[in-house]
Amino acid sequence: MVKRRDFLQTFAIGTLLAAGGPSSSAEVARADQEEWYDRPMRWAQLAFVEDDPGNYDPAFWLDYFRRIHADGACLSAGGCVAFYPTEIPLHYRSRWLGNMDTFGEMVKGCRDLGMSVIGRTDPHAAHQDVYDAHPDWIMVDAGGGKQRHKSDPDFWVTCALGPYNFEFMTTVHQEIMRLYHLDGIFTNRWAGSGMCYCLHCRENFRTFSGMDLPRTNDPQNPARRQYILWRQKRLFDLWRIWDSAIKDINPGASFIANAGGGALSGLDMKTIGEIAPTLFADRQGRSGVMPPWANGKNGKEYRATMGRKAIAGIFSVGLEEKYRWKDSVQSGNEIRMWVADGIAHGLRPWFTKFNAQPIDRRWLPVVEELYDWHYRNERYLRNEASLARVAMVYSQQTATFYGGEQASAKVEDPALGFYQALVEARIPFEMVHDELLDSEHVGPFRTLILPNIAALSTKQCDQLHEYVNQGGSVIATYETSLYDEWGVRRNDFGLASLFGASFAGRVEGPMLNSYLTLEKDPATGRFHPLMFGLEDATRIINGVNRVIVKPAEAGGYSPLRVVPSYPDLPMEEVFPRPAAMEAGIFLREIGRGRVVYFPWDVDRTFWEVLNVDHGKLLRNAVLWTTNEPAPVAVKGAGILDLSIWSQKNSMTVHLVNLTNPMMMKGPLREIIPAPRQQSAHPDSQPQPNRESPSAGCKVRDPLSARQGLDRFRNPSNRPSRGHRH
Ligand SMILES: [Zn+2]
Repeated sequence: MVKRRDFLQTFAIGTLLAAGGPSSSAEVARADQEEWYDRPMRWAQLAFVEDDPGNYDPAFWLDYFRRIHADGACLSAGGCVAFYPTEIPLHYRSRWLGNMDTFGEMVKGCRDLGMSVIGRTDPHAAHQDVYDAHPDWIMVDAGGGKQRHKSDPDFWVTCALGPYNFEFMTTVHQEIMRLYHLDGIFTNRWAGSGMCYCLHCRENFRTFSGMDLPRTNDPQNPARRQYILWRQKRLFDLWRIWDSAIKDINPGASFIANAGGGALSGLDMKTIGEIAPTLFADRQGRSGVMPPWANGKNGKEYRATMGRKAIAGIFSVGLEEKYRWKDSVQSGNEIRMWVADGIAHGLRPWFTKFNAQPIDRRWLPVVEELYDWHYRNERYLRNEASLARVAMVYSQQTATFYGGEQASAKVEDPALGFYQALVEARIPFEMVHDELLDSEHVGPFRTLILPNIAALSTKQCDQLHEYVNQGGSVIATYETSLYDEWGVRRNDFGLASLFGASFAGRVEGPMLNSYLTLEKDPATGRFHPLMFGLEDATRIINGVNRVIVKPAEAGGYSPLRVVPSYPDLPMEEVFPRPAAMEAGIFLREIGRGRVVYFPWDVDRTFWEVLNVDHGKLLRNAVLWTTNEPAPVAVKGAGILDLSIWSQKNSMTVHLVNLTNPMMMKGPLREIIPAPRQQSAHPDSQPQPNRESPSAGCKVRDPLSARQGLDRFRNPSNRPSRGHRH
């Protein structure tokens, strides 16, 4: 692996080694034949619908898979509808199947193309005959009624935690494996459709906890807390049962759960990272108001616990809005941007198409173009390590036990705000799971960001102290560490000694019309580097919520001081009242490490308001704490999502061009080419993105500009290849 320092030097002088990694997936496969999981780089998923058998053209799809260089296939096998001649009673066969084996014929065709093949099952719904034979397999709602399927009333919703999954679906998975000897089985909607109050769930939960199933979602309710733990245990038990049933037939195969995600995901990512040999991140596209970097974020969250294991990013070719147009086709440019951002952050592309009889075919050339580009540049996409020096922590326990039903607003929004600020600041960064704060996982990073990571155990706080003692830097906001791992409030921050501030017993908010004044450092007579770009502001707007804190040392310098809320009406009363101005930010230097603590919700407010000053403050905080030259710096107009990777014999910088009027709300209409960009000399802080004309590079790729680094040694500053995306 190329060392980061070597890269910085070569980058700075603009002479980079030509890349020379393995040139094809076949070479890589030969090098590592024990497991197949790392081989497929591009996935194709055909999710059959019941009337596909006999009505679709397998040759069309196989030809398409070949043309796009897909090397992994996921095909619907069974579960709620079987597409092969199953012999298992109650395993419903497609009414169109007849004597055919739709699944089997596609498995054979894909194998003939050299593809890895996995079968898809979906156990979340069952027909009336299942209900009649085993009424106890059906999900029961809180009112005691058996749950009919909301979308298709011919179906009943099954209980995920009882014998339907543990017994019936185990035999289904075994039959599929015996007949087709697949590389794995991928199961969709296997983890339940909400709380189930069936006989089995009631009994099993009572055996586990001695309690009745909870009737509240409050995570501080003792039964609810036990339920959260029991459900996880049950699902991981199921995962292991299916995995071992599959491995009994093909030791090289695995059960691959449709599971995982960020802070709001329900199954512990640390455990998933330990047991899953590969994962498929199911974030098919954006809906509502969502930035395109959400796909890259997803990749980072999975990689935080999966490490270098292969992760495919499932994208839909259709719209992903709540009205569920599952048979639709998305704007081509929207697909391009979504997929490019996933690739830039380590996801391998996986398209999913429901219905093998395509009606609207406009997506086909788009995916072909993306996959062909991916194939041609594969050597630069087999990443060994991210070279980012900044990481943001995400915390499922904070979402579950502190956030509860408000997790999205209280836990995810601060992370989204900080994420947006980092993208705007063009700072490459990774995500880190809060249960992996050991030196192996956080050692590569110079700065850890804790965006309102409220719930932290004593052990986690100790790990963060140790990280700083070892020279690492930390940025924390708002209620970070004010709660223990169960979401119970402490008397003081677990990180009080790092922050240089203690909890004063009160949280204020929502605050209207509050500000922060900028204070020069009396020791130097100058503004602190955190105020870079704000020097002429005098004051900036405050956030919306703040923790009232006591400084560890009275009278210390704080570059920001709180102007408390004052009336915003009547207009005659809109003037600040005299008040003791509390510190609005705490800065500390501990050995080589630096700590910034914002006792307010700067990141969450940034997500809500997107105020430029808050964005600068967040950027400056990261530059000051990181306190070293950036691994990559690119200057120019527009919004680029950066990532930087090493491969075996090369390095790759991705500049994903997000500059678009539809950036925060798709779908994209057109891709606006990125204007000329300059690589900037890595520089000491706090002078972000200082221009260095001698090391200029022009980025022609409007989308994922894969910078094979040979581009930077071209003295004419012309890209040696133009990848048009
Ligand atoms: Zn149940």
